[in-house]
Amino acid sequence: MGANRHMSVDSRGRYTPEALGEVTPGSDGPAGSRSHNLLSTRRASLMQEPVLVLNATYEPINVTAVRRAMVLMLKGVAQAEEMHNAEVHSAAHAHKVPSVIRLLAYRHIPQQSRALSRKNILLRDRNTCQFCVRVFPSSELTLDHVLPRSRGGRSTWENLVACCYRCNNSKGDRTPEEAGVKLARKPRPFTLHTSRQLMRLIGHRDERWRKYLFY
Ligand SMILES: [Zn+2]
Repeated sequence: MGANRHMSVDSRGRYTPEALGEVTPGSDGPAGSRSHNLLSTRRASLMQEPVLVLNATYEPINVTAVRRAMVLMLKGVAQAEEMHNAEVHSAAHAHKVPSVIRLLAYRHIPQQSRALSRKNILLRDRNTCQFCVRVFPSSELTLDHVLPRSRGGRSTWENLVACCYRCNNSKGDRTPEEAGVKLARKPRPFTLHTSRQLMRLIGHRDERWRKYLFY
């Protein structure tokens, strides 16, 4: 059934990992289309697999997706340190998929490199309402100013926490003491330490990450 795989080239003449193993549309019959769909689905999920990113010094600094990791490798910015067992195929090659990559040039990571954002606050608090300590989907969480804005509370890492709507409503414009509630944890900036805990959580299925994360 020879699915006609070829390497696609982007507008600037480089081939992209997005295009790796792309099947020429309409080149095969109905059976081929079906296997094409199956292949695409499998490849798409493989391309989303998490990849641990190490600094040039082997210090873990980030988690990215296979797709992005392969772009960094193609650009010569990073090299693979550990590989997945899986491969993606193009006409001429089977491309090994990385599990851990390392940047070739050292990148300085500022102490507080994480932007203060709703997404990062929810990540830090693990989607857990900091008052009732229950886990919610992101859509059911809001951000609570521990010291309310009306009382001079600022939008900082130390004054913003994940909070479910119910707790947010019942707390209202009061301090936790006034509302008779307690914070699950003292809110802290998103540090590299926090990031590393998250990396461990994300990578807990991947043995190949262990030696870089010391767990
Ligand atoms: Zn709550």
